[in-house]
Amino acid sequence: MTQENQPSSLADIVTASGHIAYDWDLVADTITWQGPWQDLFGNGCEPPHDAQTFASLIYPDDHHLVFTESPVSFDREYRLRLPPDGHLMWITEHGVTSYRDGHAVRQQGLLRIVDSPENNIRLPLFSSQDLDSLTGLPNRATMLAQMDQVLRGLKHFKQISAYLTVSIDKMAFVNEAIGMKAADTLLLNVAERLTTLVPPRTLVARVGGDVFGILLPGQGQVAQGLAESILNSFRNTPVETSASPYHISVSIGGVRLVGQNLNTAEIMIRAEQALHEARSNGRNQYIEYRESAARIRETRERLNIGERIKQALKRNEIHLAFQPVTDTETGAILFYEALARVFDDDGQMMAADKFIPIVEQHGLAPEFDRHILDLAVHEMEKYDELHLAVNISGLTASEAAWPQHIQQVLKQHPHVARRLIVEITETAAIINVEETQRLIQTLESLGGKVALDDFGAGSTSIRHLRTLKLAIMKIDRELIVNLTNNKEQQHLVRMLNSIAHGFNLKTIAEGVETEELAQWLRQEKIDMMQGYYFGRPSLDRPWLEMKNNGATEIRLETILGEQNGVTEVRVASLIQPQASA
Ligand code: C2E
Ligand code: CA
Ligand code: CA
Repeated sequence: MTQENQPSSLADIVTASGHIAYDWDLVADTITWQGPWQDLFGNGCEPPHDAQTFASLIYPDDHHLVFTESPVSFDREYRLRLPPDGHLMWITEHGVTSYRDGHAVRQQGLLRIVDSPENNIRLPLFSSQDLDSLTGLPNRATMLAQMDQVLRGLKHFKQISAYLTVSIDKMAFVNEAIGMKAADTLLLNVAERLTTLVPPRTLVARVGGDVFGILLPGQGQVAQGLAESILNSFRNTPVETSASPYHISVSIGGVRLVGQNLNTAEIMIRAEQALHEARSNGRNQYIEYRESAARIRETRERLNIGERIKQALKRNEIHLAFQPVTDTETGAILFYEALARVFDDDGQMMAADKFIPIVEQHGLAPEFDRHILDLAVHEMEKYDELHLAVNISGLTASEAAWPQHIQQVLKQHPHVARRLIVEITETAAIINVEETQRLIQTLESLGGKVALDDFGAGSTSIRHLRTLKLAIMKIDRELIVNLTNNKEQQHLVRMLNSIAHGFNLKTIAEGVETEELAQWLRQEKIDMMQGYYFGRPSLDRPWLEMKNNGATEIRLETILGEQNGVTEVRVASLIQPQASA
């Protein structure tokens, strides 16, 4: 091979690799190019031959990335703004700098045009399972997937992106005020309003019942301005509903990814922390996430728990703890509520209230709830008189695929269906009434039941009880636990009980911790009771013990977990007239 052949074969290699090479003599200020530079600068154009011409092509926001003291070897990403129409093109570059006497004298680099990350954000055609059935917006899982795509893209692009989470203030109150049909149209119109307020190439999704997420890929600088225009829009203009226009306000939490190396879970946690702060500061405002030691600690803990849950799901390490629900009149155990438990890395048992919110934050709720349903069905297959109640999260309840899933599972286990109760919280039930109704119908057609959980916890609407043909109403623990000295709460519980009976619903009082309470509830003719007084949630199968002990006495021995190295055990003895589960 001759000397003359070498440069052209090098150029061939560069061309074949899809790279464009440059050699920049910093002393003479001349740049020479090799490879398919026409792809970049256009056919019939000259490539830039000096620093000034090159600089004029670099997107102004990215100047500092190119014209900076370069290390001996570097990787960078920046945008070029190119003739004839000023379109932007993303470049990644690997280069080296040569130094002489401490001064940079030469730079050589390989450039590559990357698929514009904006193009990846061009919303793909979503299929119905990616979309929320009420608003037609992408759902939480879709948002997480898109966010992940941005994060996998160019480092620089990622860092100029932002995420906002927008929540409707006091949605339960709005529901109550205008009724759920109108509230549905309100949600729909909020979704539409957000979609018109955001800049192009922005993803708006419904990430929770009354919470929307806005992903701003490559446009983090507009986050604050956008948040303000959203706040103003709702301050100034009421939202149309199928009833009359209704004034709402929103709270917004934001995260900018500048200088951060975050994953989707961290972004969601931070946005929600900021949102939480905006809400506790009096709502109707925007707060951008700022780091603090306490927050970092909290985030780390949440991430750890999230990882642990993912691992536990994979390894089949989620456990069920069973808590009895007893018949008020006879004291017989009618069914058990199955509550999820997971052991953390230190072998400590975590109760559901510690990790369920994180499961939801990570978008794992539907998967988690499917898993719990499987465990419960398995358990009922094994013990043919066992009746179990499982909980599903609000995010699962509003998932269009869920009724179908439950139907599928129960058809495979026909003997289980009539022994299954699904508990759904009141807030979740009324946020997507249509899906809730579908779930109730599906379960009922197979012989199962739906219980409304935590009733009376939020702002409660009796209207919903009429529409939703439920079987059981669980009166929220908070209303029950300190009932004995509170006349007002006694009155409320009495009222809820008689309303429920008016709708032909059976009632359960949760959180019954004392005999005194149990007595009051018996006298009020609440149908069923559940609480520490009758038995703590237990990993052992209490019904087995019941069989061993015959029909007279059952010992509910429950290991609730360890605290500070001490195992907490609670033993409750019950007189059981009949050994029926
Ligand atoms: P919940 O459905 O209201 O469950 C009752 C919670 O109250 C349980 O907490 C239980 O341990 C606790 N509890 C029971 N009796 C008493 C009592 O007498 N006094 C007091 N102070 N507390 C009592 P846990 O297991 O931490 O569950 C918290 C919440 O997590 C549940 O509230 C439920 O909403 C959710 N959850 C539990 N398991 C699952 C699950 O498998 N899937 C989903 N999606 N959510 C679950
Ligand atoms: Ca429950
Ligand atoms: Ca409850």
